Amino acid sequence: MTVVIDGGLAEGEVNAIGISFGNSNSSIAYTTGEGKAEVIANEEGDRQIPSFLSYIEGEEYHGTQAKSQLVRNSNNTVAYFRDYLGQDLDSIDPTPCHASAHPQKHESTVAFSIQDTEPETQNVVTVSEITTRHIRRLASSASDFLGKKVNAAVISVPTNFSEAQREALTKASKAAGVDVLQMISEPTAAVLAYDARPEAEVKDKMIVVADLGGTRSDIAVIASRGGMYSILSTSHDYETAGAQLDQILVDHFAKEFMKKHKTDPRQNAKSLAKLKLEAEATKKALSLGGNASLSVESLADGVDFASTINRTRYELLAGKMFGAFTRLIEDAVKKADLDVLDIDEVILSGGTSHTPRISTNLQRLFPPSTRILSPSTLPTAIDPSSLSARGAAIQASLIQEFEKEDIEQSTHPMVTVTPHLRNAIGVLVVSEDVKKGLFTALVERETAVPCRRAGVFAVPREGGNVIIKVCEGIRDIKITKKEKAKTNGKADSDSDSDDDQEEEDEEVKEKVWKVGTVLAEAAIRDVKKGGKVEVTVNVGVDLGVQITAREVGGKGGVRGNLDK
Ligand code: ATP
Repeated sequence: MTVVIDGGLAEGEVNAIGISFGNSNSSIAYTTGEGKAEVIANEEGDRQIPSFLSYIEGEEYHGTQAKSQLVRNSNNTVAYFRDYLGQDLDSIDPTPCHASAHPQKHESTVAFSIQDTEPETQNVVTVSEITTRHIRRLASSASDFLGKKVNAAVISVPTNFSEAQREALTKASKAAGVDVLQMISEPTAAVLAYDARPEAEVKDKMIVVADLGGTRSDIAVIASRGGMYSILSTSHDYETAGAQLDQILVDHFAKEFMKKHKTDPRQNAKSLAKLKLEAEATKKALSLGGNASLSVESLADGVDFASTINRTRYELLAGKMFGAFTRLIEDAVKKADLDVLDIDEVILSGGTSHTPRISTNLQRLFPPSTRILSPSTLPTAIDPSSLSARGAAIQASLIQEFEKEDIEQSTHPMVTVTPHLRNAIGVLVVSEDVKKGLFTALVERETAVPCRRAGVFAVPREGGNVIIKVCEGIRDIKITKKEKAKTNGKADSDSDSDDDQEEEDEEVKEKVWKVGTVLAEAAIRDVKKGGKVEVTVNVGVDLGVQITAREVGGKGGVRGNLDK
């Protein structure tokens, strides 16, 4: 007999969702019967739910309703608090909260002094308690939508979320009735959201995930090898994010208003809050269309303000900031000791990734072979704002039936602690008399071990005795200077000075392999003309290598072990 407890759940039943919990927004997602992840809209119809809580006369407002309270009720509105969890006041940056309830010290944690239960009564509410209330609201929206109480979740968090932050989040969620099954890193969630699509071809690739949010941007370089993800480098930036783009528009419109009305709306807190909210909406509209308008009732001194801006102007104003996003990504690639030519995919995640110019700039940074997954560069891209929540939901559906201990095992990203190959391992197939051949990588660099890869290689045309060299491959970037093609006709260049010749030559970069240490050599006799050999490489956890080589369709083969 099934005992039904509260909210339609049987005793011991786990009903888990995915939660993306950001400083600016949160999202909730679930997986359908077919394993597809879908983002849930809350009662107000929002899929990106502002991580805001606001209190008016003892009543709690959440999400968009709370965010709009920044104008009239900013002191009792708590915002941008996720990163404060598990930290003390001295280690946080309070800047994002300058226009809402200010973080303050409370014992060893951060808290906010707000009138939450009744007017005129100032209460100190810890960031943990605020998080509990926020998660409770998210879980309640999900439970309403699913028609069944949600009692567990996988939550996505940044890669630099500390152990103390994780613990605080686990406790705060538990207090909200949500058991945290696992925390998944935001970039891993984004990769998972793409790789879980039925049409996805899961193959070895090097991925950059650029999670561009409201208060921070986080970049991760990830090697996906045999379906396992290894994070190679991460970087975090708190000066290059959506808030800075909002500020550019706030300044632009404030100046326009000042020209006409001689008052700076940024000098008054209420005017600034109104302008900020509208500027953000205008910024979002500019991601979709070429023109956007802004209108604020009674912006300052009781004067209404309306204006428009086109995308070209916005891109000019924000050009430097857009450049900063590109640099962040380029630097993260370098930090992983890679070149842009090594990157197969760039996944743009987070709300700011909707900005067309940010993704088109990346098209210029990366070679044409790199896929830039964002709405303006790929029509089939997944909504960047939903990637973390989708990935978390997929993970939740994968692990919700696991025993707690098994989850623990899979939680600790074995991906980051397992040994990796620093160099690729590949094969050179040569005939006995010609000693040079073309290196083909069989096991890519950064592959987590143990691993096994096999490949079939054509032998030199005449066949005969063939030598197979299994060697390390060191990826090198070859730069060739290409003379820039002249754009002017002959007549022009005669009359004109030789400006064209003075133009700098173009640099063409390509990935080439330098053959490193030869790990093993095998000789296969009397391979038939036009034949093929199959080579298998096994790398153990101890980095010992086992190699087998045989003629396809032939008898016998060679096998060898190599200790490291
Ligand atoms: P963080 O933790 O960095 O504050 P988050 O993960 O909570 O961010 P996101 O929803 O990923 O929040 O990003 C919010 C940012 O994305 C805001 O600055 C918002 O204005 C911006 N944004 C959302 N939609 C768009 C859009 N269509 N075009 C441009 N920017 C957008």
